[in-house]
Parts: sequence; structure tokens; C-alpha cells
Amino acid sequence: MTDTTVTDIANAASSSVDSAGTAHAATDGKFDLVVIGGGPGGYEAAIRAAQLGMKVACIEKRVHKGVPSLGGTCLNVGCIPSKALLDSSHRYESTVHDLAAHGITTGDVTFDVATMQARKDAIVAQLTGGIAQLFKGNGITWFQGTGKLLAGKQVEVTPLDGSASQVLSANNVILATGSSPINIPAAQVDENRIVDSTGALEFKEVPATLGIIGAGVIGLELGSVWRRLGSEVTVLEAQDEFLGALDKGLAKEALKQFKKQGMDIQLGAKVQSTQVSEQGVSVTYTQAGAEKTLQFDRVIVCVGRRAYAEGLLADDTGIKLTERGLIDVNDQCQTSVEGVYAIGDLVRGPMLAHKAMEEGVMAVERMHGEATQVNYDTIIGVIYTAPEVAWVGLSEEAAVAKGHEIKTGQFAFAVNGRALAAGETQGFVKFVSDAKTDRLLGMHVIGAGAGDMVHQGMIALEFAASTEDLQLMTFAHPTLSEVVHEAALSVDGRAIHAIQRKRK
Ligand code: FAD
Ligand code: NAD
Repeated sequence: MTDTTVTDIANAASSSVDSAGTAHAATDGKFDLVVIGGGPGGYEAAIRAAQLGMKVACIEKRVHKGVPSLGGTCLNVGCIPSKALLDSSHRYESTVHDLAAHGITTGDVTFDVATMQARKDAIVAQLTGGIAQLFKGNGITWFQGTGKLLAGKQVEVTPLDGSASQVLSANNVILATGSSPINIPAAQVDENRIVDSTGALEFKEVPATLGIIGAGVIGLELGSVWRRLGSEVTVLEAQDEFLGALDKGLAKEALKQFKKQGMDIQLGAKVQSTQVSEQGVSVTYTQAGAEKTLQFDRVIVCVGRRAYAEGLLADDTGIKLTERGLIDVNDQCQTSVEGVYAIGDLVRGPMLAHKAMEEGVMAVERMHGEATQVNYDTIIGVIYTAPEVAWVGLSEEAAVAKGHEIKTGQFAFAVNGRALAAGETQGFVKFVSDAKTDRLLGMHVIGAGAGDMVHQGMIALEFAASTEDLQLMTFAHPTLSEVVHEAALSVDGRAIHAIQRKRK
């Protein structure tokens, strides 16, 4: 697909937004709820509020590929485009490496980056256009511009089209302006040789050598995309520990799998400087006291994200910030000002789309008088690599640190019939349980479909399940989920497809 076609797709989405008549709908400027930011947190909040009968406005300033766009980081430059490229590159790698074992001969397998990118862009346009349609159907007014909270729950809107700003008044306001990538002086993004995650989603060709600064979620996901397509990938991680916040067993297995795939992951590697030339980027870093330099075609900087509140608050709003510069909120996302809520990446907690979404719904239902509460103990984390890495609840180390006497069980996919049939034998499921009460505390999965499988653990934790509850359930055969059952059984040394006989 050519660039022209991509633009056409984007324009089609844009015209449907304009024809919806919501972008510049005439209003009296008074709303039950004004949401600033139309990412997953903000747009879900707006829709839920409209369902509850509120008169809602959402202000979103993003212009994506020349078109005003709802959906925030997640739909435009985050979750969705990264997963589109992950899927395309996985299909390519799997076709090249996995089919021969099934007796399938493919001949020369080639790929076209432009087609992959166009497919990704079309998915983004479809989804962001879909949010605009949902806004129209729910009677939500979308102000295409920048919002600023003023005192007294008033919000100033500066339109993208340069027309005069206006002031809206609201009974309630939700701040949902998300986050932006952290920049480091040692590797300044130039949108050419040195890019952030947004730039790394737009490569027009596969870099022969790719340096990644930061072995976090973005580094591993986008590193996987370009490695599968042929880049020689080196990841420079400042910490000595790989994925330090995860269960250690899970992180160790993930490191082993990624290294096996050819990703060169250097831990304790502190980047000191970068130098861009016509040949590429040379990166100087220190590791175990030695100074080293590597040369790359391109470098992705992905060292975390920080809350984005630029120009969001007038001086006299009374909104308190935390020491780390986040908007200070309580467990219900209420700020220090009555009727003003803040959600998503802008506030404490993991920077995840589903966390932002549920906070948006909670804030709206709270203003409606309901007692909705996000359970922060059961927010799932997923790294969408192959194998996927997913977790919910407490790691073994965190459970011990919290004072639990624990018992753990683990079961590998390697001996599961369905995993063998599918050729997806890497990884395991691990449970952490309280030894005294038998209550499940955490589930950790690395393997094919881990991101879906981990929801079984989330539901179990939500219902305060015991390990025995899972042990007594019947799991369909043959499924990958049988590994979940066996892992729960193995917590008490009674997995069937492992030797766990009690010795006298
Ligand atoms: P955002 O999505 O950032 O939306 C905030 C919006 O507010 C933006 O569109 C911005 O333009 C707008 N805005 C800011 N200031 C103003 C203003 N003053 N006026 C008007 N509008 C304003 N999370 C997952 O859960 N799963 C994933 O697979 C995943 N993959 C990711 C991949 C990448 C490459 C990246 C970068 C992130 C990924 N994330 C993922 C994280 C996820 O995108 C964020 O956690 C999520 O988007 C946060 O939602 P939000 O609504 O808080 O903010
Ligand atoms: P991250 O916090 O996941 O990882 C950043 C890594 O960079 C850390 O390991 C950190 O030690 C390292 N680092 C920091 N400074 C460094 C330096 N100077 N040199 C070398 N390494 C350095 O951040 P990210 O990968 O940029 O992702 C940002 C956010 O986006 C995350 O919080 C994540 O929640 C979200 N995200 C989620 C998903 C998903 O849910 N699948 C995907 C992508 C992004």
C-alpha cells in the first residue's frame, strides 16, 4: 500500500469525524462533565458519563498524521500500533522458522515494511474513527483543542483551528492528559537516527543494527518487532537486574528466552553519550567500570514515561501535586479539589491503558453516587513479546516482603499436549499462595497466550479464591489452560503430569 493510500484512509476517518458534527457543535458552554484528554482514560469516562445521562464534553488536542484524533497514546502511538507490528513481524518469523516442522514448504518468504506500516495505520484510523463515532452516538461534544483547568471548575479551550478560545463550566472535571516519553541528555531524540517509541513505530526500512536504551516493556516489544524482521538488536539497560519489578523466576525465564532469540541484552549498561554521524549513532556506555562504545544504524530511547500536565493547570486551581510531580489523588481518583478527578498515566500506579479506563469509569460512577472502586491489587501486566509475559497479584518476593508465609507451584508448557501439538512449549505458569490460608496471591505466566491466560488468575484473585478452588475445577482437555490447573495442583505437590510422589 502506498503512502497516498494511507493518507486516504486517515482522511476518510477525519471526514467521518467532521460529518459527525460533534467537533464544533454549538453549546452554551455548560456541562455536567468536562474531560481533558481523549485517551483510553478520558474517552471511556466520557462515554460512561453519557450513558448515565450527563451532558459531556471531551477536549483532545492530538493531531495524528494530519488529522485530529481521539484515542490518546494507546490508540495512536502506543498499544494498538505496536501490537499491529508485533503481529505482522511474528507471522513473518513464524512462517520462516516454524512451518517446516509441520511439513509445510514455503519457498522464499519476503516481507514489505510499507505494507505492514499501512496495515498498522489503517487499524489506528479505524479505531480512532470508531471512538469519534461512539462520541457522536452518545451525544458527547468533542472540542478539538487544548484544555486548561481554571479555578471554580471552569475549563478554557484553545481550539486547534486558531479560533478564539472559550471557557466552559462544569459540575465535574476529569483530568486525563496522559504521559510523554522521558528524554535523557545522553541520547537526545532527533527523530531520525535517535527516536522514541513513536519514531520506532514509523521505520520505513529495517535498520541493520538497532540499539535500544532501556530494557522495559517498550524496549522488549519494539526490539522484538525489528529483530524478527532482521535487525541485529542490542539492548542497554542501566539496572543490573532484568525486569526488576517482576517475579524473579518469571524475569529469569524471560531473559533466557529473549537471549535465545538473538536479542543481545546488556545489563548494568549506563549510557554516557551518543554521537550521530552520517554512518549512524555511536553510543558510549559504562559497564562494570569499563567504558564501551557500540555503533548502530538507529537507536530507540525508551527509559520510561512521565505524567504530562504541560499548561494544564492555571495557577489558582488549588490542585495539589505529589513530590514526583503527579496530580495527587486518593484511591477514588479525587484530587484536592471537590469535583475534579484525575486518572490514568497522569496519576500514581502503573501506566497502563486498562488501568486508565477503569479509573475513568470509577470517577464517573463516583460522581453519579455509586460506590465503584478499582481493585489496584489485580491490575494485570503483559509484555506482548513471543512468548508473552504476564502477571497479576504478588510476586514471590513481594509476597514474602509483605509478611506472607508462602507456598508456590509451577508447571511447564513443555509437557502439555496442546502446547506440544501447537509447537508452543516455552515457559510456565506459576502460582504464589499463602501457606496458612491457601489463598491465591499471584499468578505469573510466560508462554504463548500468557496475556489471555493470566485473566484466569485475575478472576480468581477478585473472588478471593483459594488454591484448592482452582485445584477442584475441571479444565478442558487438551488446552493450554490445563497448565494453569497443573500449576495450582503443584502448589501442594499434586500435579499429575509431573513426579510429585510423597516419599516415606
Ligand atoms: P493518553 O493515552 O496519553 O491520552 C491522553 C491524551 O490527552 C493525549 O491524546 C493527549 O494529546 C491529550 N492531552 C494532553 N494534554 C491535553 C490538553 N491540555 N488538552 C487536551 N488534550 C490534551 N498500555 C497497555 O495497557 N497495553 C499496551 O499494550 C501498551 N502498549 C504501549 C505501547 C507504547 C509504544 C506506549 C508508548 C504505551 C503503551 N501503553 C500500553 C501505555 C498506554 O498507552 C497508556 O497507559 C495509556 O494510553 C494511558 O491512557 P491515558 O488516557 O491516561 O493517557
Ligand atoms: P519502563 O519503565 O517499562 O522501562 C524503562 C527501562 O529503562 C527500565 O528498565 C529502566 O531501568 C531503564 N532505564 C532508565 N533510564 C535508563 C538509562 N539512562 N539507560 C538505560 N536504561 C535506563 O518504560 P518504557 O519501556 O519506556 O515504557 C513506558 C511505559 O509504557 C511503561 O510504564 C509501561 O507501563 C507502558 N507500556 C506498557 C506496555 C504494555 O502494557 N505491554 C507496552 C509499552 C509501554
